[in-house]
Amino acid sequence: MSIAGNVSLQDLPRICPLISRRVQSSALVEEQHIVRVKDVRFGDTRPVVIAGPCAVESFDQTLAIALAVRDAGAEMLRGGAFKPRTSPHDFQGLGIEGLRILHEVSRETGLPVVTEVMDTRLVQTVCEYADMLQIGSRNMQNYPLLIEAGKSGKPVLLKRGMAASLCEWLGAAEYIANEGNLNIVLCERGIKAYPSGEYSRNVLDLNVIPAVKEETFLPVIVDPSHATGVAGMVESASCAAIAYGGHGLLIEVACDYPDAAKPCCDAAQAISPATLCNIVQFIDKHIEKQDVLRKVHAV
Ligand code: PEP
Ligand code: MN
Repeated sequence: MSIAGNVSLQDLPRICPLISRRVQSSALVEEQHIVRVKDVRFGDTRPVVIAGPCAVESFDQTLAIALAVRDAGAEMLRGGAFKPRTSPHDFQGLGIEGLRILHEVSRETGLPVVTEVMDTRLVQTVCEYADMLQIGSRNMQNYPLLIEAGKSGKPVLLKRGMAASLCEWLGAAEYIANEGNLNIVLCERGIKAYPSGEYSRNVLDLNVIPAVKEETFLPVIVDPSHATGVAGMVESASCAAIAYGGHGLLIEVACDYPDAAKPCCDAAQAISPATLCNIVQFIDKHIEKQDVLRKVHAV
């Protein structure tokens, strides 16, 4: 019996030839494909740490967190100006004002910025303020949005849909690549599977990292914040993701600053800058070990 719409890994060369490691057997694939966002390099030997608030709430909050994450060793700033919320009555983000804040904070700190775009009509505007577009889990299969992001030529951080198979995720990346844009970084952020919601927000699918690397040359990073939903789990999840071969991390951080308020969204999963420091130190040690191993294998 064949089932309509059912695809498996064998179908990937047909579904996504442009990003398939099996199809693209060129130099691009032999060396690791690097996605550059200003001076930041995704896919290189050092995993990239992107950190910042869940949502941009004010200039002071964003600047305080950006300075703290930069001190801790983060290379890029995250923060949502447009927030996809379950309820329309919850804080939706500061919109264009949030983009302006991110741009200004990026200028002051030197950290390139990634922020979510949810609306095809806003792709150009977000491109004017941000260095990288984030396509969120809920929009992974919003094909018109993927096409616009592809056309923009900007680097794109493509999160995995919360119930997406690897084929669906890579098929979504192919839409961006099909517009001539290979500046794509994939981001695993946890999937809905039994028993998500009981002791963690989602199920962190670390096994997908080696699977992604086998099927495509695009870099893959991990968001331990949305994957766990619990601040106390984020450090272990981050270290596990790096040990599993992830090319980087996307982490939500909150910090104290004068008049600090509890974050408007996802407060329970925000880690402190001190915990971020521990994660960066883990990455430093991991790199040292990899270097030693490389030298041993070279002789
Ligand atoms: C986010 O990173 O801000 C976010 C909303 O994540 P996700 O799309 O993975 O839920
Ligand atoms: Mn969040």
